[in-house]
This record gives sequence, structure tokens and C-alpha cells, in this order.
Amino acid sequence: MLSTRCSVKPLMSGAMIAAYCFLSIPLHAQAPAPAKSPSARQQQLRTAVDEAYAKFKSDTKGKNADYIPYLAKVDSNLFGISVVTTDGQVYSVGDINYAFSIQSISKVFSLALAMQDVGAEPVLSKIGSEPTGRAFNSVLAVVDMPTHSGNPFVNAGAIATVSLIPAKTANEKWNKILAYYGDAAGGKLSLIDEVYESEAATNQGNRALAALLLKYERIYADPLESVDVYTKQCSVGVNTAQLGMMGATLANKGKNPVTGKQVIKPEYIPHILSTMMVAGLYDGSGTWAWNVGLPAKSGVGGGILAVIPGQGAISVFSPRLDEAGNSVKAQEVISYIAQKLDLNLYDSSPDLLK
Ligand code: GLN
Repeated sequence: MLSTRCSVKPLMSGAMIAAYCFLSIPLHAQAPAPAKSPSARQQQLRTAVDEAYAKFKSDTKGKNADYIPYLAKVDSNLFGISVVTTDGQVYSVGDINYAFSIQSISKVFSLALAMQDVGAEPVLSKIGSEPTGRAFNSVLAVVDMPTHSGNPFVNAGAIATVSLIPAKTANEKWNKILAYYGDAAGGKLSLIDEVYESEAATNQGNRALAALLLKYERIYADPLESVDVYTKQCSVGVNTAQLGMMGATLANKGKNPVTGKQVIKPEYIPHILSTMMVAGLYDGSGTWAWNVGLPAKSGVGGGILAVIPGQGAISVFSPRLDEAGNSVKAQEVISYIAQKLDLNLYDSSPDLLK
């Protein structure tokens, strides 16, 4: 006798639950576990988000990035959380209307666009996907790594990724990138001019990385133009719900849950999420994977986006960073919610092989 068994995860949509149950057919009949009702799951999620907000709100560990002058001046106490599910529900708390600069989280979506435009294999061979074991802006990594570019999430690899995106002019490329991010978010996004100006005036390090990439023949368009477009993409403003929706698009096999637009080809999603797992939090990625087990990407603006494949995304903004450049509070919040809702990818047992 066959009986379906489904331990319903709190973020699952109805369709996901059906698929999940359908796939969980044990060889030996067992009593079905009681399924939680959608409203019980929503309540559990709401409670976890509210608890995390209250628990970590007054934590002042870490400090704002200050190598970009604008970021040093952002109010360190700003704090917002959004969880967006693949059926388009949004749970938010805190400073959720504040537009912060997306910074390195942009790299996830430029990687997606590069694959859309040139395919996955050329991106892997021309950029790479290895963790560098060094800071995100390391010059030594470019010299030492066999691929030089490392992976699409360190600055050198991200600038090289931008250079791979085809366009006739730098401006056309920038507009294409901005529109693509908007498709992932399900609405128009804009540049924060002051962030761009502040960063463009102080990005000598990134220009040095691009020059080195040229020496190693690992950049595929004009180096300075590539740095400029990259600087613009880092200066795009998002609030936590917009960023969460971008993450939910990744979680939903590349289709925006609200607009229904297929933004990223489903076959590219595993490449993106696995890169997030190995390099999304730079030198903090190993500890993050050990403790939380979710693909995530941080930005020095204070955002972190974590993706729960098939279920949704958690987006948190708090500007104080740790030594590796990852928001302290955002890590705490995502870790708390993931533990409460049992979201660790390495700790789930869908019984697909049994
Ligand atoms: N724009 C930043 C830079 O180039 C992005 C770094 C980050 O968010 N880790 O340094």
C-alpha cells in the first residue's frame, strides 16, 4: 500500500506542498504526519519574523562600511526584515521603506543576466566559481588564483562578469542590467545617485583589479567602462521587500512570483545558488554554510539575501558589518528564522531516495 508522507515546511506554497507530498512516497506504508493548515504556517512565519526583529533589534555589534564615504554616514540603527514566499506573500517588519544600496547582492543578478546572454558554460570557463579565501576586493587573489577572476561574487569576478554581458555601449549595458534587476524585483528600480558618486570617486581599487584582469586576459570589454557599469549596479537602491522579491524569483525557478515573468532560465538557478553557497558571504561562507545551510549573498550596504529553493527568500537590512563585510544583524536574523522554521537545506529529509 502506498501512503504519501509530507512534513510540510512553513514556507511552502500549496503547489509546492502537493509536489513535495507527491514525491515523498515511501516504500513502506507509514501513518501520514498531520499537515499544518496554510494559516498555521503563515502564523508560524509571522511569529518567527517578529521574534527575530525583537531579539536582535538592539544589537550594536559591527560597524558600517566606511571605505565608501556614503555608507559610513548611513544610520547604523536602520533595521528591516522581509520574507517573500514563492506564492508572492510578503512578511515585513522594521524600516522596510528605506532604499539601501544593493551593493554586492547585485552580483547574483548580473551573473544570471550574463548566463541568459552568453550561456552557463562560457561564464564558468571565463570567470570561474572557486572561493578565493581572501577579502572580496583582494588584489592578491587575482594574482594567485589560477582563474584570476575567482568567482562572480568577488569584485574582480563581478567586474569580469559585467564585461561579458553583450551591449553596443556602456550605457546600453547599464540600462539592460537595471531593467533586468527590475524584472527580478517585479517593478522599476533606480540608481541612488549619491552612492554612485561616492563610490565612483573612491573606486581606485576596483580599477586596479580591472587592469590586472586585462593583464591576465580575463576581462572581455573595456576595463574602465566595466568598472563604471559595475559601480552603477552596486548603487541600485532596494528596500527589503524588493530585494526579497528578487530572492523569491530565484527560489521560484527564475519566475517572478507576482508578475509571472520568467526572468532567469530554470537550469541556471542551481549554478547561481551553489555559487551563493560557496562564496556568497566571502570569507564567512564556510561558517555560514556550517551554521545556516542556505545560499545567501551579502552586500556592504548592509543587506543579506538568503534563498530557500522552492519556498521563498529572506531579505534583511542592517548596516553594521563584521570583519568579512557581512551584516551582523542580518546574519543573526536569517540564522534565527532558518532554525525556527527548519529551513537548513542540509537538514531536510524529503525521502527522495527511499
Ligand atoms: N561596491 C562594492 C565594492 O566594489 C561592493 C562590495 C560588497 O558589497 N562586498 O567594493
